[in-house]
Amino acid sequence: MTPLRLFDTYERKVREFKPINPGKVGLYACGPTVYNYAHIGNLRTYIFEDILRRVLEFNGLEVNHVVNITDVGHLTSDADTGEDKMEVGTRRTGMSAWEMAEFYGDAFKSDLKHLNALEPVTWCKATDHIDEQIAFVQDLEKKGYTYRTDDGIYFNSQKLNNYGYLARLDIDGLQGGARVEQGGRMHVTDFALWKFSNTDEKRQMEWDSPWGVGFPGWHIECSAMSAKYLGDFFDIHCGGEDHIPIHHTNEIAQTEASRGTRLANFWMHGYFLQLNNAKMAKSKGDFIRLETLVDEGFSTQDYRYYCLTAHYRTQMSFSLESLDAGRTALARMLQATYSWGEPGEISEEYLQRFVSYINDDLNMPRALAVVWEMIRSDLTSENKKATILKMDEVLGLDISGWRPDATEAPPEVLSLMHEREVARRDKDWKRADELRDMIAGHGYVVEDTAEGPKLSR
Ligand code: AMP
Ligand code: ZN
Repeated sequence: MTPLRLFDTYERKVREFKPINPGKVGLYACGPTVYNYAHIGNLRTYIFEDILRRVLEFNGLEVNHVVNITDVGHLTSDADTGEDKMEVGTRRTGMSAWEMAEFYGDAFKSDLKHLNALEPVTWCKATDHIDEQIAFVQDLEKKGYTYRTDDGIYFNSQKLNNYGYLARLDIDGLQGGARVEQGGRMHVTDFALWKFSNTDEKRQMEWDSPWGVGFPGWHIECSAMSAKYLGDFFDIHCGGEDHIPIHHTNEIAQTEASRGTRLANFWMHGYFLQLNNAKMAKSKGDFIRLETLVDEGFSTQDYRYYCLTAHYRTQMSFSLESLDAGRTALARMLQATYSWGEPGEISEEYLQRFVSYINDDLNMPRALAVVWEMIRSDLTSENKKATILKMDEVLGLDISGWRPDATEAPPEVLSLMHEREVARRDKDWKRADELRDMIAGHGYVVEDTAEGPKLSR
């Protein structure tokens, strides 16, 4: 089998993936900030991570997949200024911060289920790990990486000589060009580890700490929780591309300072789904949800298929037209597979070609092209079926679970279709023609295409 190679943002290259502990993989994915619904851009990143997990499992590895829920501390600007997004969300929704976290957390999990994404092994919430975060900050304090300002405890990024390596940050340039409100920060790249509550208003989420009442900064939750569930150095850490310059850079800084490791062996990032040439963003409010697509008549799997048509390291420009093209292709794939009857033997030739692409840094567009070539090949229907079902362990399109829409064609027509396929395979043309007439009697026309029979009214 082609060895698995993955792109590592830290080293900026594709390299062979070898688990730190044989047979096992620790995978941490930064989860959603639960002050609103996830949009289809966020979900593109989780589909990429699901594909990654499935590919690792396809390679025989056991994956400990951890996803966090950010329910406190993510401020309206990633650079630690502004308000907590959760507190802003409570004013918009009228819910308490705790109710909102549960509501949008559940909505997110339900979206993942609808996309047929595998459930993480561990979910962890920032608010359930305040003690671990405080302990982490205390350790950083003891090691001399922190300082205090009027509004919190900050990490001194300049105490690390390779701060910002992940993003190849130009520290001097940033420092020189700094125009942002720095508060009491010593350097523009310093970031909050613990923020003090304002004295004039009561926050809904706040805790006692050795430094006073307040709440953790956004980055510390991921360093603390990944250490708890996966150890100080684990295999793969993922997120969206926006995490490279700030969030992941700061996670690495904290863990490097406290534990002396760069946190993860591979850093992987999903690129953005764009809408009208701009990043789709929750904070903009006019984003597209998965449910919006369903209201437009698409299935959640149509969206999953659409995401597989682009490599995860390229941005995708969303349009309903391209989603529609994905829907048409997926419908053909599902109908063809359904008409093939019982599975026979897996075609090793097609499967190995498929694997050579999925193992080449998750090249799903090329892998899909192999699926289509296989569908149009002269393999028997039974062997096509066995092969596509195996491939679907990675695609996750739930091909075997698909049934034609009741409004599409009644079961008797589909079973006549199937019988006709069997007759054709046996070269019993007379019987095949009889069956075609019987299908026509139900008001349907069968057309034989390169991808298999197609039914229309
Ligand atoms: P958030 O809920 O904002 O913390 O983001 C959840 C995940 O979605 C993070 O991994 C982000 O990097 C990712 N993300 C945010 N916007 C987009 C987008 N437009 N396209 C793809 N991924 C995104
Ligand atoms: Zn994170």
